[in-house]
Amino acid sequence: MTKVVIVGAAGRMGRTLVRCIREGAVPDVVLVGAVDLWDCPDLGRDAGRVAGVDEVGVPIGCDLAAVAPQADVVVDFSSHHGSTGNSSRCAEWGRPMVIGTTGLSADEQAEVGAAARRIPIVMSANMSLGVNLLLSLLERAAVALRDRGYDVEIVERHHRQKRDAPSGTALMLGAAVAAGFGRRLEEVAVYGRRGMSDGSRPGGEIGFHAMRGGDIVGDHTVLFAGMGELLEFTHRATGRETFAIGALRAAAWAKDRAPGLYSMRDVLGV
Ligand code: NAD
Repeated sequence: MTKVVIVGAAGRMGRTLVRCIREGAVPDVVLVGAVDLWDCPDLGRDAGRVAGVDEVGVPIGCDLAAVAPQADVVVDFSSHHGSTGNSSRCAEWGRPMVIGTTGLSADEQAEVGAAARRIPIVMSANMSLGVNLLLSLLERAAVALRDRGYDVEIVERHHRQKRDAPSGTALMLGAAVAAGFGRRLEEVAVYGRRGMSDGSRPGGEIGFHAMRGGDIVGDHTVLFAGMGELLEFTHRATGRETFAIGALRAAAWAKDRAPGLYSMRDVLGV
């Protein structure tokens, strides 16, 4: 059995996680705590009710320290500063973590990395099986198409409330292509295009384009555009359950691991 505390419990992902636990989507995972911000309107309410399912007997609180001792794993889908601070606190308490939050700065990622020297942390901008499989397919495609005149552009679409752009998933997909091309993403990434250019697109460049609107859960397309052909890889999330189920599987996997920073590809073996 894996006992989890969810941080960001009143949010879109938090509610999906609670619902998936309530419905037994991943066997032997139980909810022992739910945490959100002190000014969250759902504070004190049952996490199951907030998630739109039956009561789970766990009220949403705002003090992680009060519930973490009962947890095997803390699952955090809150905010970049929230998850970063919580990683240091969980390291002090010896509590493994799963972090799904995106938009962490390089300094914040370094802080999570430091915490992972003391506890196991599974961190991924995308917990779905499909996207993690896509990462390895893209690496293979990039190795095969490297230096053969294929231009790569990544287009992502998300709901209007998403804060970070491009999405963490788009950046992961870009990093997989860059790795296949034998480059580092920072050297080849271009974010958006406007105005005049000299009409010669540098080979090896990876362009990112972000769209925001409505309630789109998350669409990503990676294009390899060659002369006379276009190869496209598309992943479309049609619900948040795929991320939640991945995160809960990661929690069960992380529970008894040695300290370290792990990815979803480690968890899923893809
Ligand atoms: P959301 O805004 O709906 O929910 C976030 C919740 O966290 C809110 O209820 C907010 O009040 C709470 N929160 C913020 N800071 C907090 C803190 N310091 N302590 C406790 N609670 C805090 O957002 P969302 O759509 O649920 O997404 C949350 C994060 O997860 C985002 O970074 C998003 O990009 C990421 N995400 C990751 C995956 C994945 O598979 N890894 C999938 C979807 C979303």
